[in-house]
Amino acid sequence: MKAATKFIHAGVHPDPSTGAIMTPIFQTSTFVQDGPGKHKGYEYARTQNPTRTQLQNALAAAENGKYGISFGSGLAATDTLMKLFKPGDEILSTNDLYGGTYRLMRKVWENYGLQFRFIEMSDASHISQHVTPTTRMIWIETPTNPLIRIIDIQACAAIAKKAGALLAVDNTFASPYLQNPLDLGADIVMHSATKYIGGHSDVVHGCVITNNKDIADQLYFLQNACGAVPGPQDCFLLLRGLKTLHVRMQRHCENGEKIARFLRQHAKVKKVNWCGFEDHPGYSIAKSQMRGFGGMISFELKDNTVEAAVKVLSSTKIFACAESLGGVESLIGHPATMTHASIPREERIANGLTDSLIRLSVGIEDAEDLIADLNQAIE
Ligand SMILES: *Cc1c(COP(=O)(O)O)cnc(C)c1O
Repeated sequence: MKAATKFIHAGVHPDPSTGAIMTPIFQTSTFVQDGPGKHKGYEYARTQNPTRTQLQNALAAAENGKYGISFGSGLAATDTLMKLFKPGDEILSTNDLYGGTYRLMRKVWENYGLQFRFIEMSDASHISQHVTPTTRMIWIETPTNPLIRIIDIQACAAIAKKAGALLAVDNTFASPYLQNPLDLGADIVMHSATKYIGGHSDVVHGCVITNNKDIADQLYFLQNACGAVPGPQDCFLLLRGLKTLHVRMQRHCENGEKIARFLRQHAKVKKVNWCGFEDHPGYSIAKSQMRGFGGMISFELKDNTVEAAVKVLSSTKIFACAESLGGVESLIGHPATMTHASIPREERIANGLTDSLIRLSVGIEDAEDLIADLNQAIE
């Protein structure tokens, strides 16, 4: 099945009791049984809910995976994954990681004995020297946030396999339309479905997809045992979002390219990070592992100061100044004062996050309007 057909049909079926083509919102906490233990596959809604079941199947199909497991947020999904490990186990990750994932690892799971190391991964040949006998998982994100660096998924899968470790990919930035890590050898895919999958900035959700039955069984157990489950209304919104993922992503990619090229020739712009430029260090890997380059861009101003960046952010009329990404509307953010404000300035700059760095989540409005808006804000 090709992408468009898959996102609309795979994993879902009309409601058997009524024929409703859209999966109903099963807003119920429990299910009546004919007698003790005699039920129709549903007992209690933390354990299973029919709206959630269809969403999990649809998400699994979207990533070419067998098993989908849904959670109340992206971080709840990642938190549950950490429970696959034991004290002393190490997770090796990248130094350009989503801030909330970093916080979960360092401020929560280190207290329970898990170990984490964060290294530069855009050159995959450096990764294997950091793998130790206690490394149980390699956790990557590609493209990264907000510097749009690219990590080679196939190379990481080979390194993980050799070390007897798992490879997990946070595929939030690319979405299942642009990149399918399981096809490239990853064991686990995680999404903040809050972003492109939901696509309309109206729901918070996370999911994990895998082909490994052992991992899936452990995650279904943890989903019920720990209980970070999404409600049925949220599952419905995601089922709806998924059906238009491919058309939205096509437009995000088209608009992203137009805006990246516009910014690059602008006299007041110093540098543009977008993985579709042929001179981007990760271009050839991005080209081989992604179907398009997406709508996430960051750029630096020639006037490399916080004040100059803040002026741009407070002058846009269509781009809304907000955290998050992946919705139909364009958003603009300033990592130094927003998402990465808690990182000391020297450390932030050493990692490439300069004072004027601005991040764009390019939406699906008319590109001409978006370009005019950025132009007047930068001028
Ligand atoms: C937003 C985000 C998360 C966290 O997801 P929530 O749904 O906000 O909990 C994780 N990874 C990436 C790349 C994100 O953008």
